[in-house]
Amino acid sequence: MSDVIAAPTHCPYCALQCGMSLRPTGRPELPVEVVERSDFPVNRGALCGKGRTAPAVLSSRVRLTEPLVRCPDTGRLEPATWEEALAAVADGLRRTRADHGPDAVGVFGGGGLTNEKAYLLGKFARLVLATSQIDYNGRFCMSSAAAAHNRAFGLDRGLPFPLEDIPHTGCVILVGSNLAETMPPALRYLTELKANGGKLIVVDPRRTRTAEQANLHLAPRPGTDLALALGLLHLVVAEGRTDEEFIAARTDGWEAARAGAMAHWPEHVERITGIPVPELREAVKMFCDAPSGMVLTARGPEQQSKGTDTVGAWINLCLATGRAGRLYSGYGCLTGQGNGQGGREHGQKADQLPGYRKLDDPAARAHVAGVWGVAPDSLPGPGRSAYELLDALGGEVRSLLLMGSNPVVSAPRAAHIEGRLRSLDFLAVADVVLSETAELADVVLPVTQWAEETGTTTNLEGRVLLRRQALTPPAGVRSDLQVMNALASLLGWEKGFPTDPEEVFDELRRASAGGPADYSGIDYRRVQEENGVFWPCPAGTDDSAAEHPGTPRLFLDRFATADGRARFVPVVHRAAAEETDADYPVVLTTGRVVSQYQSGAQTRRVDELNAAAPGSFVELHPRLAERLGVADGERVAVVSRRGRSVAPARITAAIRPDTVFMPFHWPGEGRANTLTNPALDPVSRMPEFKVCAVRLEPAAESPADSAADA
Ligand code: SF4
Repeated sequence: MSDVIAAPTHCPYCALQCGMSLRPTGRPELPVEVVERSDFPVNRGALCGKGRTAPAVLSSRVRLTEPLVRCPDTGRLEPATWEEALAAVADGLRRTRADHGPDAVGVFGGGGLTNEKAYLLGKFARLVLATSQIDYNGRFCMSSAAAAHNRAFGLDRGLPFPLEDIPHTGCVILVGSNLAETMPPALRYLTELKANGGKLIVVDPRRTRTAEQANLHLAPRPGTDLALALGLLHLVVAEGRTDEEFIAARTDGWEAARAGAMAHWPEHVERITGIPVPELREAVKMFCDAPSGMVLTARGPEQQSKGTDTVGAWINLCLATGRAGRLYSGYGCLTGQGNGQGGREHGQKADQLPGYRKLDDPAARAHVAGVWGVAPDSLPGPGRSAYELLDALGGEVRSLLLMGSNPVVSAPRAAHIEGRLRSLDFLAVADVVLSETAELADVVLPVTQWAEETGTTTNLEGRVLLRRQALTPPAGVRSDLQVMNALASLLGWEKGFPTDPEEVFDELRRASAGGPADYSGIDYRRVQEENGVFWPCPAGTDDSAAEHPGTPRLFLDRFATADGRARFVPVVHRAAAEETDADYPVVLTTGRVVSQYQSGAQTRRVDELNAAAPGSFVELHPRLAERLGVADGERVAVVSRRGRSVAPARITAAIRPDTVFMPFHWPGEGRANTLTNPALDPVSRMPEFKVCAVRLEPAAESPADSAADA
C-alpha cells in the first residue's frame, strides 16, 4: 500500500460508528494507525479495542488480493484474473436464470455495507437480475424493533433522539443490551446519567458489566421480556401512574393495550419471568418517579419469535407513562451493525425500496422506477426474508450472490444453512478475507475495505456519516461498486451502476426524496462539514430555500403516522418457540464479547483481539456446573435439537442457574449458531437467536453429531 494520507473517518464495526483518524506509520506491515479524534460527539475520542486495531485487517496476511475461481478438476479455489472471475459470476447467474427463472437467483447483503452499496445492491437485484429474492443479515439484527417502531410511531429510526440526550433523562430501562461489551464508548452516557442523578434499570438474564452499573438489575428467564413489560404496565395502571393527558392527546388504542396488560398480574409475571414482585414494583416506582424516562432495547428482547410484540410491549409502557414524543423521553433501539440503520433503509431488504419505501406500495414503485428509468411493473415484488431465503438455497433458489455477510457462522441453525449453501448450483462471494462462507463459493471476489473506499453509513442515531478513502487499496482488489458495475455490464446493463460513490449517493438522494427516510437534503459536503446529518432531511423546494437542518429529535410535535398519533398495539405474552423439557432442560442464550465482532470474519484476523478472546465458551452457573460435574475450563458439550457444540466451561454466578450463554463469533465445534432456533417472528421474520432449549454433557461422553442437522 502506498499514498498514505492521514484522514478523519469512522470505525468499520458497530452502529456507534465512532469517529477516529488514521495516521501514517511508515511501516509497510501496518501503514496506518488509529489516533483519537475528539471532535466527533458520539464517542469524543473513546474507542474500544476493535476500533483501535481495525487497521490490522487492512494489511492482514490473510487479506484476499486476487479473485479465486473453483477449479472443476481439483475442486479447489484457484487464483484467476478479474475478467475470468467476473465472467464466471455472470455465467453462473445467467445460467440459473435461463434454466429456472429470475427468482432462482438470490442476493444476500449485509448491515455493514455502506448506504451506496446497499442501495446499488437492491437496484442490481431488481433490475439486472429481475429477482425478488434479496435480503440481508440485518434481518437477524434489529428487524423486530424496526417493525415495532413502524407499528407504533409510523417510522423506524433506531434512536429518535441523539445519544447525548440520555444523561438528561430521569430513568433508563435498558433491555437486553450489554453496552460494556458491545459498544464500550457508549457506556459513558449511562455513567453521566447516574452522575446527573438519573436511575438505570438493566434487564438481562446475566449480571453483565453493564448490569453491574444499574440501580436495579432485573434478570428474567430468557424469552420472557414480553411478560415483564406487560407486568410493569399492569402495575403502572394498578398504581395510577399512567399519563392520561398524554394518552388522550397523542395516542390511540390504549383500551385494548390496557386490557392486555391487566391479564398479566404481578404474581403471574413473577412465575413466568422469575423476577420477584417487589423488584417489579421497585422498577415501576423508579421509572414513574423520574420526571422523564427512556426504554432502550437491543438484541435480547428483539431476537425472539415474538420480538415485535415484545418491543411493542416496551413501547406501550413508554406511551402509557408519557415517556415518548417528549424531550429526554422515548423509546429507542440500539442498532448493532455498522450500517444496520442505513442498510435497512435503501433497498436491500426483501420488502423495501430506497428511502424506507415499501415495495408493495404503487406510489413508491412509481417513484423509484422513475429514478431508475424503468416501468414500475418491471420491478419484482417482495421476496423471502433472510432465513427463509437461506433455507431455500439449493431448492427454489439455485444461485446466490453474497456481499458483506458470513451466514455459515451468523445464521441460526447454522449447520443446516451451511448444507444449503453447499447444495447451490452456484455461489459467488465478495469479501475481504476468505470467510467460512467464502470457502464454499465457486467464485470469490476480493473487495476493498472501509479505509480504502469512500461511502456513507448511518449510525444508530440516524446520523448520516462519511468515510472518505484514506488509503490506496492493494493491487488486485476492487470496490463492491466496481463489481456491480462490471457484472451489470456483462449482464446487459451498460448504464445505471456508477462506480463513483458520490454519484451513487446523489441518485440515492433522489430515490429517497419524499420517502420516510428522506436523504434528499444531505450531501457529502454537508456530512463532512457538519460531522453528520440526521435524517429525515428533505431538500429545499427551490434554489432559494434554506437547507433543512436535519432531524436529531423525532416525534416531539407529532408521530409519523397519518394522523400524527402514536398507536398502542395490544399484545399478550406467549412462550418461546422451544421450551425446556426433560431432554433439553436448560435455556441457551447467545451474544457477543467485547473483543470480537459478529461472525468474526474480520476481528478473528487481528492478533490482539484473538489473544483477548481466542474462542467460544459456555458460561454457566456454579450450581448447574456442580450438577453436571463440570469444572471451570473443562470442555462441555451443548446439545440442541439442531446439533452439538463444544467449548470450555466458564463458571460464574453472574448467570441464572437455568440458563447458559455462548458468544456466537466462532465457527467449528464451538459455533453457537449450530444450536440456535430459526423460529421466526411472524411480523419481522427475525429468528429466535436468544432462546432455545439445550442439554449439557461432559464433552467426552457425547456422540459427534454436530453436523446431524445439515
Ligand atoms: Fe468501533 Fe463500535 Fe468499538 Fe466504537 S464501539 S470503536 S464503533 S466497534
